[in-house]
Amino acid sequence: MKTQVPGAVMDRRQFLFTAAAGVAALHMGGMFMSASAQAAEAISLPALPYADNALEPVISAKTIGFHYGKHHAAYVANVNKLVAGTDLAQMTLEEMVKTTFGDKDKVGVFNNAAQVWNHTFYWKSMKPGGGGAPGGDLLAKINADLGGFDKFKEDFSQAALTQFGSGWAWLALVDGKLKVMKTPNAETPLAMAAKPLITIDVWEHAYYLDWQNRRADYIAAWLDKLVNWDFAAQNLKG
Ligand code: MN
Repeated sequence: MKTQVPGAVMDRRQFLFTAAAGVAALHMGGMFMSASAQAAEAISLPALPYADNALEPVISAKTIGFHYGKHHAAYVANVNKLVAGTDLAQMTLEEMVKTTFGDKDKVGVFNNAAQVWNHTFYWKSMKPGGGGAPGGDLLAKINADLGGFDKFKEDFSQAALTQFGSGWAWLALVDGKLKVMKTPNAETPLAMAAKPLITIDVWEHAYYLDWQNRRADYIAAWLDKLVNWDFAAQNLKG
């Protein structure tokens, strides 16, 4: 009996050691798994093109913190989860958006992928010290297609203001002509055979901390101080 007790103790120690090694192995496996999942992630969150306080006072660092750091980041995480292990994971973000648009079985992928694309485009649509009027070919085309810059501002503001609920307003190129558009939720001209030139996010999360219910004031300040016409001109050429 006495010899059996130490034996039992040894067995138990052995068991504990084995169990511990197993847990360690699982941890290692987990680390390797998450490392390879990381590498295989289809979509990444692009860096902001400026500091988080660069758009103040129109858009505060606090808004950017939530909007970029939480909302945009969550769309990236969601789309990666949704496409992991599917053919969609091999696509570029643009292909993902175009392929899933209007597909009832892929609504979740479309919403998250389009929101990733729209937000990246929105950050570029603004710059510190932006605003004013465009020049060159873009202004000439706005004059020719949209009845002048003042008329464009009026129409763009109206589109942004009257987008009921969440969504976006856009300046886009459609069949070679400039057009002011508005889209609900995640919808994007990118999926509609149009070429976006500029966008403003009018989801409440884009302005509520800074402007509360005053969407019209956010839009006016955005056009006066933030809109990045260099980016729009680049998109018109490219
Ligand atoms: Mn947003």
